[in-house]
Amino acid sequence: TDPAIIRNFCIIAHIDHGKSTLADRMLQLTGVVEQRDMRAQYLDRMDIERERGITIKSQAVRMPWEVDGTAYALNMIDTPGHVDFTYEVSRSLAACEGAVLLVDAAQGIEAQTLANLYLAMENDLTIIPVLNKIDLPAAQPEKYAAELANLIGGDPADVLKVSGKTGEGVESLLDKIVRDLPAPVGDASAPARAMIFDSVYDTYRGVVTYVRVVDGKLSPRERIQMMSTKASHELLEIGVSSPEPTPTNGLGVGEVGYLITGVKDVRQSKVGDTITNLARPAAESLAGYADPKPMVFSGLYPIDGSDYPALREALDKLKLNDAALVYEPETSAALGFGFRVGFLGLLHLEIVRERLEREFNLDLISTAPNVIYEVTTEDKKTVTVTNPSEFPTGKVLEVREPMVSATILAPNEFVGAIMELCQSRRGDMKAMDYLSEDRVELRYRLPLAEIVFDFFDQLKSKTRGYASLDWKAEGEQVADLVKVDILLQGEQVDAFSAITHKDKAYSYGVMMTSKLRELIPRQQFEVPIQAAIGSRIIARENIRAIRKDVLAKCYGGDITRKRKLLEKQKEGKKRMKMVGRVEVPQEAFIAALSSE
Ligand code: GDP
Ligand code: MG
Repeated sequence: TDPAIIRNFCIIAHIDHGKSTLADRMLQLTGVVEQRDMRAQYLDRMDIERERGITIKSQAVRMPWEVDGTAYALNMIDTPGHVDFTYEVSRSLAACEGAVLLVDAAQGIEAQTLANLYLAMENDLTIIPVLNKIDLPAAQPEKYAAELANLIGGDPADVLKVSGKTGEGVESLLDKIVRDLPAPVGDASAPARAMIFDSVYDTYRGVVTYVRVVDGKLSPRERIQMMSTKASHELLEIGVSSPEPTPTNGLGVGEVGYLITGVKDVRQSKVGDTITNLARPAAESLAGYADPKPMVFSGLYPIDGSDYPALREALDKLKLNDAALVYEPETSAALGFGFRVGFLGLLHLEIVRERLEREFNLDLISTAPNVIYEVTTEDKKTVTVTNPSEFPTGKVLEVREPMVSATILAPNEFVGAIMELCQSRRGDMKAMDYLSEDRVELRYRLPLAEIVFDFFDQLKSKTRGYASLDWKAEGEQVADLVKVDILLQGEQVDAFSAITHKDKAYSYGVMMTSKLRELIPRQQFEVPIQAAIGSRIIARENIRAIRKDVLAKCYGGDITRKRKLLEKQKEGKKRMKMVGRVEVPQEAFIAALSSE
């Protein structure tokens, strides 16, 4: 294909501003998806994506579109909108020349609108500003066109107004994409260089790799080489998604498509790597992307210990398709054998957990998630702590925690409430700007640990849902952090240890000890529950003793009834875990670890 007729673009937007719906309309208008095959969010293929209405994996689709008698090939790359998956957005952007910046005409610019816009600008993309949902009665297209034009420069009259729902304006948008976006440029006669921007495991076809060809050409049956590992593979199939995979006789400069080599593991076809011809390799690879870094760690344990091998197998399978997922085995005195798993964020955690339970039929306990800490001990050694139980026991010189820079957009009436919330989360205000007379952008530096868990829910409830949030990791800082342990009759229960700021240690201790007092049944003896920092006790509760004699209830000599009761008690014991002499029902662990 002649690069002059190719246009590569992506749609970027704040979550729910209508990317997937607009993509659906484009698929329909360009005729690549027949009316009768159309279903909402066509490109969101994973079940979980459909149910939650979010896009997780990026997808690329080729669509024909004619302008002034010339047939063009548009490659549309759909991008995820959630902050956990920002790294997927940046790879998609690197495969495009332009971006449609989509803004809900009833909402205006939101935090991820800005974050995505900045990413697109860093990638030197041409930006087409578009207001969506103009069919809504609450739409204020004039107001927000001015806001958008003010943000990116230009005339409010040039902001296109569309409705992904009714299709209004979508044809003009396709025309504008052809007219305004530059065609890709590259050297057709040079050795091939193709950037891997996604890599997906498919049960039937093995790994499907999505590439953007920059220079040269890739042809079916030739041998290709991965430039980072020097591994070579035969190209079994190469083609474009339109949107079903359609084999072609190769991909040239500027083209976006997929290829299949028969490898079974996405790590062998690494996102960000450059593919070249084995016979005539390129001298230099393309600039790659940064690997996604796990931000949040949690222990995952099978409720039934015998499911441990199945859990391992399930994680191995998920990993084939999720390069961001990292895990290693760990054991907990309380929970048995499990894995310490790293995630991009809480949504990622929830999705992985849900997939493990749903697709692999596992019942799991997950421990309270935590971020990564760097701890320097007295002898100047530094340990990376991804699990509170790794926190050094001796004297600690300093603890560093990861930080983020956060952007919050909201109507100005909520500024006070937002500032209060950020302050309570140890935030440091960096800037405050007015986007328009009634909308404010606040920038904060905050500890990651204060923002990843319930911050967004709090922010939403304090602003009646009007605030939006985006953040990115930015360095670390020394902080007054301690490890709080929970002890049952003097025995530490590793699954309940947590690393918290000193000012919050007490409330964590009180919360956990009182929760456990409710959850753990009385024993034959008194059981103290304590929270401690090192050897210092900061909170304490007591479970009073009972005489637990089930046989006492049975008067008379019904021996079979007595035996049945004994059997029942034994059964019950199987689901008990022993902490020292204390019997703790499995349910107590689960309930104590689930967020209230
Ligand atoms: P995404 O998160 O950006 O992919 O957004 P979706 O495409 O999933 O849309 C979010 C919600 O907005 C869905 O309920 C859509 O039905 C709705 N929506 C999308 N586009 C329009 C539009 O043009 N008009 C109206 N009224 N609703 C829309
Ligand atoms: Mg979507």
